[in-house]
Amino acid sequence: MSLDWVCPRCKGVLDTRAGAYHCQGCDSQYRDFVGIPDFRLGYQEFDSHVALAQRFHREWDRLTYEQMVRLRWSGLRERHLQRGGDPCALKTWDADEESFLASYRTRGASHVQVLRALIQEVQGIMPVQRLVDVGCGWGRDLIHLTTIAQSVLGVDVCSFSLLMTKKLLEEQQVTNVELALAQGEYLPLRPASVDAMNCSATVEHFPDPGLFLREASRCLSPNGWLFLYYPNRFSLLPETHTGIFGLGWLPRKWQQKVVAKTRRQNWDTFLFSRRGFMRMLQSQFAARQVRISGIPEGVENFMFTSKFANMLGPLAKPLKACLSLSRRIPGGERVMSFFAPVHFAAIAHQ
Ligand SMILES: [Zn+2]
Repeated sequence: MSLDWVCPRCKGVLDTRAGAYHCQGCDSQYRDFVGIPDFRLGYQEFDSHVALAQRFHREWDRLTYEQMVRLRWSGLRERHLQRGGDPCALKTWDADEESFLASYRTRGASHVQVLRALIQEVQGIMPVQRLVDVGCGWGRDLIHLTTIAQSVLGVDVCSFSLLMTKKLLEEQQVTNVELALAQGEYLPLRPASVDAMNCSATVEHFPDPGLFLREASRCLSPNGWLFLYYPNRFSLLPETHTGIFGLGWLPRKWQQKVVAKTRRQNWDTFLFSRRGFMRMLQSQFAARQVRISGIPEGVENFMFTSKFANMLGPLAKPLKACLSLSRRIPGGERVMSFFAPVHFAAIAHQ
């Protein structure tokens, strides 16, 4: 797929000059970073992983994807200890690493399965021509999204994440994917040029999620669809980023303090309730049909092979049983959905 990018700032036409993209409208310049076009608007200074990306890029031929994953995780553990983090917490980190490695081949597949089921309910068209994965991270979903779309674009703000994805695509010999460094709120895409958009575990991190929804609405074609996956504020299970029980139930001001005190982490996550999310969606996105579920068909396949399973421990089994039971009871899904750890939203564009 060869995309004709537009300026993420003014949506003007870009021409290529001496390896850089130049906007005819606002005179902005965009360059490549390790062979990936960089359309971020001044975000570069917040990208704390540039040096890491460059280091890994220098060792490109020597490292496999899994080795890169392991190196990254050991770096995270080191930083955790340097910051005075609890050494006992490292056990969770080890489990996370193993869980990631075990699931990156399957989670995406299960994710796509959930997505297919939801899309069928909102009468989306499958397979799609062009799909964009916003916040593709290390490519775990993206690699499988390539099976439901003819061409896929992976977008992320983090240089290191896209480098990881690039490696994964190369190893798995997937060729129908392009990558771009860009912010979800400012996509370098023409209006109505995308048939589907996936945004997994990302919308809660956007500085302006409403602006992202407006941008998604601009880029999606009529009857295209948007698929989102985000942690539920009123989850009865541990919060997905920190593992803290009941975090979302606290007032937002307190959430930050609790995370800083107990986990020594920054907290830039906005936890949406189902109602809060719907309100934002209605004000920013021209939706024809919306389906939000906490327990779509097939969700067990990846919930219980992922980070959740580690956090849940002995609770995993009874919860799994509750999920399948609630599908058979009238109104059960609604109740479960209120307390579910994450929400899946499939939204048909108008
Ligand atoms: Zn421009």
